[in-house]
Amino acid sequence: MANPRSAAPDIAFRGVGLSYEGPDGPIEALHDVTWDIAPGEPVAVIGPSGCGKSTTLHLIAGLMQPTAGTVEVGGRPIGKPRAATSFIPQDLGLFPWKTVFANAALGLKLRGVPRDEMRARTEAALREVQLEGFEKAFPRELSGGMRQRLALARAIAVDMDLLLMDEPLSAIDALLRETLQQTLLELWQRSGHTQVLVTHSIEEAVFLGRRIFVMSPRPGTLVRVIDNPHMGEPGFRDTHDYDECCRVVRRALETGAREEAVR
Ligand code: ADP
Ligand code: MG
Repeated sequence: MANPRSAAPDIAFRGVGLSYEGPDGPIEALHDVTWDIAPGEPVAVIGPSGCGKSTTLHLIAGLMQPTAGTVEVGGRPIGKPRAATSFIPQDLGLFPWKTVFANAALGLKLRGVPRDEMRARTEAALREVQLEGFEKAFPRELSGGMRQRLALARAIAVDMDLLLMDEPLSAIDALLRETLQQTLLELWQRSGHTQVLVTHSIEEAVFLGRRIFVMSPRPGTLVRVIDNPHMGEPGFRDTHDYDECCRVVRRALETGAREEAVR
């Protein structure tokens, strides 16, 4: 399925700021964020609501330009969206008038993949997220969790070397969520793409992030980078390292919130 070109891109943020125009003046969403993500690295970004997580992904996707600093993907400033980036926005971006199949196939269609291949890859992606049998349904007929799975199918059906996901599993119930986290893990292990997962679930960040970037409340700054070297090892979820990493992330989130309170 995912079959990235030989080299997945790195991502470099240098002093990145992003201010939105608000009715009462600029709203600073991100402030002086600097970090590097290595080629093929899976990173999780975690922080409280409104700290600029979605903004961060829009910047990496090339859908928005920073108002301060620079964002580079693969060594180049990201001027416009790249074909090899797959992005699941928080609102999913599904078309209500298209069927499940057509929604899942959209990324392939936009990239000009031949019809037979498009069909086969779309079917495989829908199987991967356990949506086979729903091909002819429309998004409104699906639960919130099924819609998230559909957006996931669309994202993983294409050849990509960078996968950006904005709280992709938040509406999915606990057991299936763990299954899909495993699906995402295996997909990454097979394909070696660079991955940025935005989540506010500590467990999800620790299961899927080789490094975890913890952000402060608005304006979002980078509070801490947590190494999680055993991520991806068999049975990781049941290990002491996993529990310990969850504790470290929780503490860093609390610290970020406290620093905000005294600022
Ligand atoms: P998160 O995804 O972490 O919840 P966002 O990146 O969506 O945060 O937003 C960061 C901050 O910027 C929030 O306070 C939000 O209200 C504000 N914001 C986001 N989009 C806009 C916009 N288009 N106009 C004005 N403010 C915005
Ligand atoms: Mg968001």
